Amino acid sequence: MAWFKRDRKPIAAPAEKSSRVPEGTWVKCPECGQAIFNKDLAANLHVCPKCAYHFRLGSIDRLRSLFDGEEWVEHDAGLRSTDPLAFIDTKPYTQRLKAGAKATGMLDAVVCATGRIDGIETSVAAMEYSFIGGSMGVVVGEKITRAIERAIPARQPVVIVSCSGGARMMEGILSLMQMAKVSAALARLSQARLPYISVLTDPTTGGVTASYAMLGDVNVAEPKALIGFAGPRVIEQTIRQKLPDGFQRSEFLVEHGMLDLVVDRRDMKAVVARALRFMGAELAPAAVPEQTGVAVAAPSR
Ligand SMILES: [Zn+2]
Repeated sequence: MAWFKRDRKPIAAPAEKSSRVPEGTWVKCPECGQAIFNKDLAANLHVCPKCAYHFRLGSIDRLRSLFDGEEWVEHDAGLRSTDPLAFIDTKPYTQRLKAGAKATGMLDAVVCATGRIDGIETSVAAMEYSFIGGSMGVVVGEKITRAIERAIPARQPVVIVSCSGGARMMEGILSLMQMAKVSAALARLSQARLPYISVLTDPTTGGVTASYAMLGDVNVAEPKALIGFAGPRVIEQTIRQKLPDGFQRSEFLVEHGMLDLVVDRRDMKAVVARALRFMGAELAPAAVPEQTGVAVAAPSR
């Protein structure tokens, strides 16, 4: 007879729902089953028109959804990882980097750009999940740090859109150091009294949650996004208990004081702009509407 017996049923792994938009003309919404014409979905910022399910959005589409006129200037696009640990797991890290570059056309998992959000010149970093799970290695940390350091002398606010599985373990301690580096840069931004808005999207986990994603002056999340440090499955397996419904989802986290707002993607730009303005961000000089209409003549005496 065994000394110890498991008296609870093992936890069934929740069924994985695909949230990527597959290739093809029609897409089926994983939430409500509605068939959506691909172009309609793109026009609706990849949000299901029937049930408002938020499909995952790529970094470039994200910038398009935020910047005025879909215009921006990209920075540090040429930075790439040097594979400092010569890391190999099931396959060499260099191969993973190549596959990521092929899938996304980018050299790492973040795009940093400056442009205008409703007339406010802003430094934005948007993470790309399709590049090794949006993981934060040296390049992601360095690019985000530079995006913040660029904003300080230019007196611009910062918006970081997180979408990440956490720190990139193939770069070991070097990836973990990025948490401290980016956080220190954000502290300098705060000392310069410039606003920072963190936008958390599905998923934001691990070292990204544990550093810059939770450091916003305002932390805004998309609906039903998974946000946490360890994933719910890992926690369930560790504590051997079923977690409450909606645990680690945006709405649950707002109720428990971890986030400030849950905002539909279609309203995100307006909410970000309003929050930036509330925190004192100013319109870029050329974006200030010119005085037109009635010409004021000098009073004649
Ligand atoms: Zn739907």
